[in-house]
Amino acid sequence: MAKKQFKAESKRLLDLLINSVYTHREVFLRELISNASDAIDKIYYRALTDEAVSFNKDDYYIKVSINKANRTLTVTDTGIGMTKEELDDNLGVIAKSGSMAFKNENEIKDGYEIIGQFGVGFYSAFMVAEKVTVISRAFGSAEAYMWESQGVDGYTIKPCTRDGFGTDVILRIKENTAEESYDEFLEEYRIRSIIKKYSDFIRYPIKMDISGRRLKEGSETEYEDYTEEQIINSMIPIWKRNKNELTPEDYANFYAEKHYGFDKPLRHIHISVEGAVSYNAILFIPEKIPYDYYTREYEKGLELYANGVMIMQKCADLLPDYFSFVKGMVDSEDLSLNISREMLQHDRQLKLIAKNIKARIKSELESLLKNERDKYELFWKSFGRQLKYGIYREFGGNRDFLQDLLLFYSSKEKKMVTLEEYVSRMPEEQKYIYYAAGETNERIEKMPQTELLAEKGYEILYFTDEIDEFAIKMLGAYKGKEFKSVSAGDLGIETATSADSPGQDGYKELFAKMKSVLGDKVSAVRASKRLKHHPVCLASEGELSIEMEKILKSLPANHGIQAKKVLEVNVNHDVFKVLQDAYANDEEKLKLYTDLLYNQALLIEGLPVSDPVEFTNNICKIMK
Ligand code: ADP
Repeated sequence: MAKKQFKAESKRLLDLLINSVYTHREVFLRELISNASDAIDKIYYRALTDEAVSFNKDDYYIKVSINKANRTLTVTDTGIGMTKEELDDNLGVIAKSGSMAFKNENEIKDGYEIIGQFGVGFYSAFMVAEKVTVISRAFGSAEAYMWESQGVDGYTIKPCTRDGFGTDVILRIKENTAEESYDEFLEEYRIRSIIKKYSDFIRYPIKMDISGRRLKEGSETEYEDYTEEQIINSMIPIWKRNKNELTPEDYANFYAEKHYGFDKPLRHIHISVEGAVSYNAILFIPEKIPYDYYTREYEKGLELYANGVMIMQKCADLLPDYFSFVKGMVDSEDLSLNISREMLQHDRQLKLIAKNIKARIKSELESLLKNERDKYELFWKSFGRQLKYGIYREFGGNRDFLQDLLLFYSSKEKKMVTLEEYVSRMPEEQKYIYYAAGETNERIEKMPQTELLAEKGYEILYFTDEIDEFAIKMLGAYKGKEFKSVSAGDLGIETATSADSPGQDGYKELFAKMKSVLGDKVSAVRASKRLKHHPVCLASEGELSIEMEKILKSLPANHGIQAKKVLEVNVNHDVFKVLQDAYANDEEKLKLYTDLLYNQALLIEGLPVSDPVEFTNNICKIMK
């Protein structure tokens, strides 16, 4: 019989798994049991929605058997089974979750990390098995098929026989090598403890033949060996269990079993609500960003169960976009099994649950912020941007909802601070919440525009994310205090005396001349109130700041949007005297200087100079 080849990606993964030195190889059993449970779920769901199919609870189980003599470990289920085509389609290619991981060649070199990080499903069997045989008979079919593979060189499928529907996955366990031992996977106690550890909450019985020794009946001295089929798992789904009985490990195992993420969850939320709407939910706030999080491919949503039966894998309506990083599941008795996606969207119960969940996630984040700041900052690093997008996109009065979760770097504290903390420290006479936008904290630190504020001792928030300024504009104000950019035309600060505040009048003509040299590039040239040590800077007038212009320019559809730029000149700087002198005596020089200063201001802003060749020529002119 001809061998079929695995798809290229699967081959690479297989190769990796076969040679794996991954320390948690035992998870293969979790993967196989999880597949078996899914297969039973599928039949159960059919039975509930199709009257022709009956479901007798006792007929559905998973059985794990060990045969030491043959070195085999078998996982049997009475689930939906697979047709010949399904064996080919499903086992010939690696699961979607895994294949995504393989887009990045570097990660492949990191081999075993992947196994820990991504659910590799069925293929993980090859970590411990030299040969994998799958015998399956699909529900409603008279034929059974056997799929068999010894690894990378391909697989075969041939007809066989099987009593009843379902699947057997038979692993021939590898021989021990000098470095690695595999015998443990043929030990009853070991297999039993792996099941207990990872699959305790599987809703169907996981059976095993357990051997023991007991007193012979009627005797007080004679013992006998016996074998008895036992159910290993507790079968109560974790979300229906009492929170007090569960440990953080239980939740972490559930997170891994469900492939919610490849990290350890930062926080779990276990909700049990009885009332107008009754539901149980287990939600997780991940620590790390999923590799596809900030891409279009990422799909938000929670698993949705109707009375213990999964009816939807990713119910998007349960989560607002700004909480799209939350993973987990919801189970409600109030939902109908047959509900369609369209109907769900309008379902009153579901809306209530979603509202409730939203509030819970928020209060959980708030408590994290309040009580475990380090953890919150980890969270913020991963998902803070999403919350800011949330503020930007959210319409209506809901923007305030997220404002207390915001963190920004503070010039004063040299660390991340909340708006609340900022406002509580504001001196009485300070009217605005000041911020500076730029690429990095280091660059912002050096912005000439911050000089006056720094001198006044005012705290400045650093905006280094592209979305920051856009989000803050949407928020408008926090606790009645408006936000103001350090580059704003008017900083809203009273300058002390008229003596040291530069009057515009004296230099009116000079500035008019400079403006005419620069033309449309700037909307005005003015004496600066904020500069202390630098000769020039750019300020912006109106709604659109220079930072925002930069960001918009990088977008494909930017409509040529421009910020209104004002060239501010420090009249107390030595350079200004040179300007005045040129104005009085040499028009060409004034033009040259004006151009140089304007370009300097652009450079400080991180904007490209308008004409680099001319700019460098001009510098050379001065040097000569
Ligand atoms: P995943 O479970 O993540 O989809 P797997 O590689 O573990 O990926 O399995 C691939 C597919 O093979 C499953 O989605 C399922 O359709 C099918 N499958 C695996 N094991 C079984 C089983 N015991 N019974 C029925 N179908 C199965």
